[in-house]
Amino acid sequence: MGADETVTCKGDSAMNGPFPGGKTKAFTLSYDDGVLQDVRFVELLNRYGLKGTFNLNSELMYQQFAWTHESGMVVKRLPPEAVLHLYDGHEVASHTLTHPYLDTAGEGEILWQMGQDKANLEQLFGREIAGFAAPFDFYSPLMADCARRCGFSYARISQVSHSYTPPRDPFYWTAGIFHLEEHLEAFVQGFLETDACPAVCQIVGHTYDLDAENLWGPMEDLFRRVSEAQDVVFLTHIEVVRCLQAAGWMG
Ligand SMILES: [Zn+2]
Repeated sequence: MGADETVTCKGDSAMNGPFPGGKTKAFTLSYDDGVLQDVRFVELLNRYGLKGTFNLNSELMYQQFAWTHESGMVVKRLPPEAVLHLYDGHEVASHTLTHPYLDTAGEGEILWQMGQDKANLEQLFGREIAGFAAPFDFYSPLMADCARRCGFSYARISQVSHSYTPPRDPFYWTAGIFHLEEHLEAFVQGFLETDACPAVCQIVGHTYDLDAENLWGPMEDLFRRVSEAQDVVFLTHIEVVRCLQAAGWMG
């Protein structure tokens, strides 16, 4: 199929969408930095059958890098031995080696930050690392080109779309919504009600925010509600990409 062809979506009585089971809607989560709170978050996802993509910085993981959040909380990274099986059933993706702001970085540095992180994570986890999530809010055509050349299948960027429509270009995957935004619940409710096809609800964030903002309860309520939707499938980012590529939606 060419990139201009859209997926076939029938009315909701006869689902024929691009996702497993012919479903038209996918729910996916992208969480950055590999911090201690990921442990509790993964437990939550597993309880409700949801899928997450976790974006890690391999070099900071080995350094056990920590910093102080504005709330006074010390944010710590999980060390390699703690993550080996934590993300089983979920996706691990690259978030660069050291989380640099790449606006002034040249091609060589970008390739190193992406390619070496991918290699380190593949060695640690023994599985292919196919996704990349940009650190901070900077992204450029050079970074997209480097991500392709490093062998990634997609790049998730920090710009927020507030849209359920997935991108045509997997190397410009904008964030659906940031999890601390006020209208998170309305965004998810809109997704549960939409007839658009394909529709992807993508939430991005850092799990330490759930401690800092005391949001574990509301997030669990949201996950419970989504998990009860019969027409929604729960996928990692790479699974969304593979389904949309197979359907000809994504290049
Ligand atoms: Zn980050």
